[in-house]
Amino acid sequence: MHVVKFDVADVWQVAAERLQQQIHTTTYEQWFQNIVPVTLNEQALVLGVSDDFFADWLKDNFDDILSDSLKDVEGIDYSYSFASGYLPKKKKEEPQAKSKPKAAKTVKAVKPGNCLSRHTFDNFVVGEENRYAYAATHTAAGSPGLYNPLYIYGGTGTGKTHLLQAVAHHVVERHPGTRVRYITCEEFLNNYVDSLRNKKHSEFRSFVRDIDILLVDDVHMLGNKTQLQEEFFNTFNSLYNQNKQIILTSDKQPSEIKGLEARLVSRFESGVTTEISIPGFETRLAILRMMQEEHLVKLNDAVLQFIANNIHSSVRRLQGALFRLVAFASAMSVADIDVEHAERLLRKLLEEETAAQLVSIESIQRIVADYFEIRVNDLLSDKRPKNIAQPRMVAMYLCRKLTAFSYPEIGCAFGRNHATIMNAWKKIPQLCSKDENMRRSVSLLERKFKN
Ligand code: ADP
Ligand code: MG
Repeated sequence: MHVVKFDVADVWQVAAERLQQQIHTTTYEQWFQNIVPVTLNEQALVLGVSDDFFADWLKDNFDDILSDSLKDVEGIDYSYSFASGYLPKKKKEEPQAKSKPKAAKTVKAVKPGNCLSRHTFDNFVVGEENRYAYAATHTAAGSPGLYNPLYIYGGTGTGKTHLLQAVAHHVVERHPGTRVRYITCEEFLNNYVDSLRNKKHSEFRSFVRDIDILLVDDVHMLGNKTQLQEEFFNTFNSLYNQNKQIILTSDKQPSEIKGLEARLVSRFESGVTTEISIPGFETRLAILRMMQEEHLVKLNDAVLQFIANNIHSSVRRLQGALFRLVAFASAMSVADIDVEHAERLLRKLLEEETAAQLVSIESIQRIVADYFEIRVNDLLSDKRPKNIAQPRMVAMYLCRKLTAFSYPEIGCAFGRNHATIMNAWKKIPQLCSKDENMRRSVSLLERKFKN
């Protein structure tokens, strides 16, 4: 059979047309229009994008539809990878990017295994909120077994996956003899199930056990999966008993994971547990500045400050906002986006942020003060009697629990420092476990805000 050979531009054209039919025009313009087809090697297509961030974003958000669009192009299924350093062609007067396209540095060709290449310790901005998690993972990478297991928990987009993969990169680079494995809990599940089906259980076991460092992402997924927990428990013990390093991440503390067996809870709690919380303004700005360095298109600092000021719910969203502006700037050749322009472009994101913040710090202060029959001013004062100090701690605790504000931000709203809020965050659950009245009050207040 004679097959007409497509070149790279042909294949991309077919895919691009399919994409345009499938997704909204603005989405297409923002994310796909600037992609440059670079080379075609057998069935592997290399797509040029401006930078690694952009490539990661596409991969994170559009991998399925991109892969689908490359299926059955004249009977052939193509795969793709990205190369960074490609800016779309611009109008003549616009200067082209200074840097030449980097040698195809593809996002797929990451090492080690399934980790993103930019998830390194170097690219991680350390602030008040993640300092301890950073230090602990760094130590664990350099001295495996010292903090064992190391359990990191926190909300989504706070950098847990980033840190976990940073350990893998660090070990591969600095300690090449050490065998490290990064795996998400979901992959653990899938591999385990496949191994049972294909009667390759012993291979699966050696995959997760014949190693020196095991990094498991999102272990809250273990909840309510009894058989998986059994397997995980055995894997854990096998590694732990050989003093191999285990690092786990989760969106909750072990005891808060629903349907997690007590023996796993106690294993997970037996080493070092550390929380990583949503970064405050300074860290957010530092992260934006760092991310900005990687982009070829530069935004002015007032815009970065605007983003940092208005997006506080997660680093991922922060990144999303930056990408949106950068993509716009590079597509439309707008060199200098100002704050007003940014505000318009980010309107949807900003609205979502406000919705997420419906429970405001002020409303919590007011309702807690009412409930305990004191004044809001008492909460904000320096008064120390128990009938004021405890409601104050409750209010701080609820702010941390029910809003996306960081410790420093909540501290600021109470005229205190972040350490006071962290203390309240730790103390209230302890008080609740000892004092039934307190427990009832806190859970009643919490419910007031939830519906
Ligand atoms: P999580 O796993 O906690 O949900 P991720 O590790 O996936 O969060 O982080 C979301 C995004 O934000 C990633 O692109 C990550 O690189 C970035 N990020 C998070 N925290 C930081 C930080 N402190 N410094 C630099 N980038 C960060
Ligand atoms: Mg993650």
